[in-house]
Amino acid sequence: MVSATVAAGVRRVRVPMPGGGLPFSNAYLIEDAEGAVHVVDPGSPTRAARDDLRAALRGARVASIVLTHLHADHAGGAAALRAATRAPVLVHEREAEALRTLAAGLPAPDLDAWGVPAERRPELLAAAVVPAGPDPVVPDATVADGEHLPVPGRRLRAVWTPGHTPGHLCLLDEEAGVLFTGDHVLPTVNPGLGLGGPTATNPIDDYLAALDRVAALDDGALRPLPGHEDPFTGVRERCAVLAAHHRRRADEVAAQAGGTVWDTAATLTWTGGWDALSGSTLLSALRQTAQHRAR
Ligand SMILES: [Zn+2]
Repeated sequence: MVSATVAAGVRRVRVPMPGGGLPFSNAYLIEDAEGAVHVVDPGSPTRAARDDLRAALRGARVASIVLTHLHADHAGGAAALRAATRAPVLVHEREAEALRTLAAGLPAPDLDAWGVPAERRPELLAAAVVPAGPDPVVPDATVADGEHLPVPGRRLRAVWTPGHTPGHLCLLDEEAGVLFTGDHVLPTVNPGLGLGGPTATNPIDDYLAALDRVAALDDGALRPLPGHEDPFTGVRERCAVLAAHHRRRADEVAAQAGGTVWDTAATLTWTGGWDALSGSTLLSALRQTAQHRAR
């Protein structure tokens, strides 16, 4: 399958991901009234990803490239696609700021303060080095919450959904009844939070508020088009499940008196078990635990 139609004028491309985690990210090709195509999340910065996307585009005129967020599995292919098509790259204004911060380099996580045992430190330090991929894109323009994207003939509204990253965007096409959810809401995966550099606000609080916003958009027939896995239904129900997960986690963390972030994390329930976490998944688990303790 190169691409499949998932809504009127919207095709989905399953773009392969390197690394043995999730098998693919979803790029969406939105056709406008002038016959041009707008690409949501071109995918990973690999040759396989680029070839599959190009095959799906088949010489179409690309008018813009919209990124739900800065992670390499969504935004990594944006620079190459822009070079090939001259289409501008659009992100939320807060994500543009996060891209600049990440490009300048982040301090390593404070593994001492987290109480991480010496033998687990190398994998965490290695995982902390590449939050935005090897070549973060410099966007051409930014969009603000509530703004409509420059897609002729469609009303595609930017919905700011911080949490996974500071400027994560969902895109609502009310007429088509679809919501591009990026990594804010996935059908079965619990998105990691606070994965776009430091923020003045707690990413868990931001995320819970953004889940409420997205749930409120669902009239019962809204079809979410996620950044991974398959299009699904029931976005309001899924938001409730994700919110319950974080509230339960908050209670678990609150029940732990004292100890380090490492001690607390080791007592929590993790999908696949604590012992299965390593590298970036372990780093994400520790960050999330630290965020809960900081609330
Ligand atoms: Zn992703």
